[in-house]
Amino acid sequence: FATKAEEKVYTIVLDSTYAPFEYQAEDGSYAGIDVDLLDAISKSEGFKVEKKFPGFQAAVDQVQAGQADGIIAGMSITDERKKSFTFSEPYFDSSIEIATKKSAKDIKTLDDLKGKKVGVKNGTVSQEWLVKNEKTYGYSLKIFDEGSQMYDALNINDVVAIMDDAPVIDYAITQGKNFATPFKPVPIGHYGFAVKKGKNEELVKMFDKGLKKLKENGKYDKILAKYVGNDE
Ligand code: GLN
Repeated sequence: FATKAEEKVYTIVLDSTYAPFEYQAEDGSYAGIDVDLLDAISKSEGFKVEKKFPGFQAAVDQVQAGQADGIIAGMSITDERKKSFTFSEPYFDSSIEIATKKSAKDIKTLDDLKGKKVGVKNGTVSQEWLVKNEKTYGYSLKIFDEGSQMYDALNINDVVAIMDDAPVIDYAITQGKNFATPFKPVPIGHYGFAVKKGKNEELVKMFDKGLKKLKENGKYDKILAKYVGNDE
């Protein structure tokens, strides 16, 4: 018998609760911009993927440890990360912002956060920003592994503010969260798909090729419109 060479299945890791980029729908399946983009690109370029949703920092760690082949997790392309990851072409422009409860009328400037607890997700550029500005504004940080825990903590006033990517906070507000975003967002550049530097580099090439096709044939816009309208 001739056995067919086993086709490689790439393990791709994503965040766990990060709507509208990845989130679990009520039937247990995962949806979101990252999920749909990855599915459409792997289909168009003819490679197989298995998706896992361990959460952001865990996903980053698994790729670095060689336990996963690639990551798509609303991950910002930064110079620091470029030292250990190879990124695709950018696929989404983002910024980070602070959210409070809508009822928190006493927080008008960043100085009003003095002595207060601010929530942030582990390993994110928001965490980096908050750590850098901690002394200036005098808040303290509470670190979360999961976005959903962080949003719940703000909801029940366990923290007075959180910092996260603007499209994610804005989506939560459109989904009914009583949050306000009193401060100007901080630009952080673009999201990219990534692999560990020097490993599975072909995945990045296939991602770029597929992304270009999706942008040309209108599928990229369709995916975005499905989740956030067309205002990237
Ligand atoms: N874009 C942010 C970062 O790269 C947050 C990503 C996320 O929480 N999934 O750090």
